[in-house]
Amino acid sequence: MTKQIQFSHAQALPAIGQGTWYMGVDPAKRADEVRALQMGIDLGLRLIDTAEMYADGGAELVVGEAMAGRRDDVFLVSKVYPWNAGGQRAAAACEASLKRLKTDYLDLYLLHWRGEIPLEETVAVMETLKQQGKIRRWGVSNLDADDMQELLSIEGGGECATNQVLYHLASRGIEHDLLPWCQQHAIPVMAYCPLAQAGRLRNGLFNHPRLNELAAEKGVTMAQLLLAWVISHEGVMAIPKAGSTEHVRENAAALAVELSEDELAVMEKAFPAPGRKTPLDMV
Ligand code: NDP
Repeated sequence: MTKQIQFSHAQALPAIGQGTWYMGVDPAKRADEVRALQMGIDLGLRLIDTAEMYADGGAELVVGEAMAGRRDDVFLVSKVYPWNAGGQRAAAACEASLKRLKTDYLDLYLLHWRGEIPLEETVAVMETLKQQGKIRRWGVSNLDADDMQELLSIEGGGECATNQVLYHLASRGIEHDLLPWCQQHAIPVMAYCPLAQAGRLRNGLFNHPRLNELAAEKGVTMAQLLLAWVISHEGVMAIPKAGSTEHVRENAAALAVELSEDELAVMEKAFPAPGRKTPLDMV
């Protein structure tokens, strides 16, 4: 059965969605990006992750085009810059995102990373946006375990619907405390850079001999192996970015890739978890 993820008060979603960082940058790629996102929706990758930051709003324009006429098929996630995450600035930032996305609500609105504005103020403005119907739920990104504990101690902080953090086979620091903490608190984790940006974040990941052997034995690609590994963790979904229909098809098919205990062990031996607390990895 396809692995699914459940956000608060939402229908369960397939555990692979679609990222959009660097979409909307190159006009020559725009048509392919729109087609890739649309094919992803057709194949069940219904969660689309974007941000006001990406291409300075350009990625949201691409997503708006891809979603035209089928808003209800998409679980739409966008993010607010930390310096916009309070008071009137948040309301204006949200409104501008909605306009670019050509919609009147977000399914999920995330604080992109923690900045100077107190979390109390961000929680309050997120709850106001929720009451106004501009967003259905809110969450955070790039918050480590201590930040999450602080967030949950704030009035309304328990409404946080997700934490979006960097997680791939070659960066497993969250397994030490953040991931178990989120699992205990039933807060789904959205893994960004699940492909380590096609290996660019970690030399040797895509051409690791043992992993390539394993992929060949299973008849899957390296990207599929990596995505299947990410979503094998309880409460974790992956949001790979794909700019072509070929890559989207491949990523969607990873939903059906099952990894045995032995296969997981091979992968985790090749790229072990740090075994101690490390600073939260980010890009
Ligand atoms: P990913 O790990 O998703 O890697 C994207 C790269 O992988 C692209 O070069 C893409 O190429 C390539 N790729 C995609 N599918 C395949 C495939 N099947 N085989 C081979 N290569 C493939 O990195 P991202 O940085 O894009 O992270 C994913 C998403 O997470 C972002 O797009 C963004 O939405 C979010 N994010 C959030 C952050 C945060 O701070 N909250 C930070 C970073 C990312 P191509 O485009 O040619 O298909």
